[in-house]
Amino acid sequence: MLVNHNIIDNLCKDAGESRTQKALRYKEQERVKIKKYEYENPMNFEISAEVEGSDIYDTYILVKNGEIENITCDCPDYYNYYGVCKHTLATVLKFSEYSENERKNKELTKVKKKKEYINFAQIVNTIYNEELNDIDSGVEAEVTRSTKMLSNSGFINKAPEAKVQEEKEKMQKYKEMLEDTIKRLEQI
Ligand SMILES: [Zn+2]
Repeated sequence: MLVNHNIIDNLCKDAGESRTQKALRYKEQERVKIKKYEYENPMNFEISAEVEGSDIYDTYILVKNGEIENITCDCPDYYNYYGVCKHTLATVLKFSEYSENERKNKELTKVKKKKEYINFAQIVNTIYNEELNDIDSGVEAEVTRSTKMLSNSGFINKAPEAKVQEEKEKMQKYKEMLEDTIKRLEQI
């Protein structure tokens, strides 16, 4: 296979079940036309293709050292969420099944970029980091505030039992939110 199976697994996971099913169908229905590609090995390649969906869409995929460096499509789905759409996935699936002979018979052509592609990984990281930073600083401030109140003996002694209990519950909730944020950060 021309494409490392981990790359395909990850793309399918990112695309989700419904897009994956559609991409498989597109591939079977010969809707993908590989236009240009540069191929080194299953972990390093660059493909541009045309995929016939409700319109004809241009796809572009760049993989370096097994990582998706860039992936774009000019379909509405891609513009809505900057993720793997059925066209880009169908492109990789189609290309992965090229036989060695098919590949060698075609002259290797350098993929010529028609436009300046936005780096996919960069977009995802920017969005995630901004979102996580917002959550993080807000939650951290709350944990600090709760910790201060709960360690203040004046508050503990004078405040009604219900108020102390409420503060403890808040603290627990914020701690869980922080842990959740950390888990999400680790998944990036
Ligand atoms: Zn698309």
